[in-house]
Amino acid sequence: MEMTNELLAGIRESMAHAKKSAFYTGFFKGINPEDIKSRGDFEKLPFTGKEELREAYPLGLLAAGEEQVVRIHSSSGTTGTPVIIPYTRKDVEDWALMFKRCYETAGVTPLDRVHITPGYGLWTAGIGFQLGAELLGAMTIPMGPGNTDKQIKMMEDLGSTVLCATSSYALLLAEEIEKRKLRDRIRLRKSLIGSERWGEKMRKRIAAELGVELYDIYGLTEIYGPGIGISCPHACGMHLWTDYLYYEIINPHTGAQVGPGEIGELVITTLCKEGAPLIRYRTRDLTREISGDCPCGSPFPRIDTLIGRSDDMVKVKGAMIYPGKIDEFLAGVPDVSSEYQIQIDHLNGRDILNLLFETPLNGAEERKNLEKIVEEAFKERIGITPKPKAVGMGELPRSEKKSTRIFDNRY
Ligand code: ZN
Repeated sequence: MEMTNELLAGIRESMAHAKKSAFYTGFFKGINPEDIKSRGDFEKLPFTGKEELREAYPLGLLAAGEEQVVRIHSSSGTTGTPVIIPYTRKDVEDWALMFKRCYETAGVTPLDRVHITPGYGLWTAGIGFQLGAELLGAMTIPMGPGNTDKQIKMMEDLGSTVLCATSSYALLLAEEIEKRKLRDRIRLRKSLIGSERWGEKMRKRIAAELGVELYDIYGLTEIYGPGIGISCPHACGMHLWTDYLYYEIINPHTGAQVGPGEIGELVITTLCKEGAPLIRYRTRDLTREISGDCPCGSPFPRIDTLIGRSDDMVKVKGAMIYPGKIDEFLAGVPDVSSEYQIQIDHLNGRDILNLLFETPLNGAEERKNLEKIVEEAFKERIGITPKPKAVGMGELPRSEKKSTRIFDNRY
């Protein structure tokens, strides 16, 4: 995004504040915030990565006085030591204000009934959806994840109008509602889908089966949580709340800024976070900047819906494979659903890409033909020959959490 003198001043202030934490005291040793006088100076600063934040466990990121801290959140610890983020009262309030702005951008009003399925607890998801909706003045239904029977019963009985969920859980609910023929008794009109890369086909299915308008909401625990940006009714990318953060899009391999509109990794610097400010934090989310004004008239710049994670980008026989690319490919093939799984194996000195996909076709012959079509189209579009396997609808795993679709079993 554009760098102004005002922004540079804000960044210097945020850096000076960050240096009150044990982590940045060491990390920025010898680096003086006053010396950051231009965009060039700023872009020479080292990136902060998740690995470094893990080393700050448990409270090394804390940059405010203990008496100011009112809450902590933590990113999932499934891949190692979790990252702990302390929040001051102002951080919690700022986050709720940003989230309220998300609901307003999506056209949610105080007369809506907001059904929240993301988890509550150390993770930031549920509570973020909750506080933003309460600040807006809507009726919230804090379900949390799981228990699909109860979810659907409450949705019916309380007349939920807005569903907040991950895309995979929204799909699961949509399929259940369809299966039980309850569509007429469900009053949903909008759905806010938490930051996750998801394809056009899945989007169309959820929208059609639930009869809702879909919005992509963006965020990550390290930077407040979900709610730092959202798509608008024009559905042409997500507006980011740049009064609270500065963003860059970089080449994940070289760290250099990408050209206008090019795909790269989103990097965020917080401008007014007190508990745990972050400077040049690598989100690992792949996206691109969308130039020009949005027809909605919002003054906030846009990034594209996420197309994958920079660490999900895998190289197979010289071709770059990432989920967004596969989604886009499958969306163009008739009789193939949005659900797929890729397993990459190394056998007898060769890489093999197994592509499992769901199809409504049942006949063995039909499936064989479809596999042949997918194999040829994949080779043409992606550049390598896969081993496709068609399976029935609903056969691939669905989850309430973010689903992984590319499994690299080579290492
Ligand atoms: Zn817009």
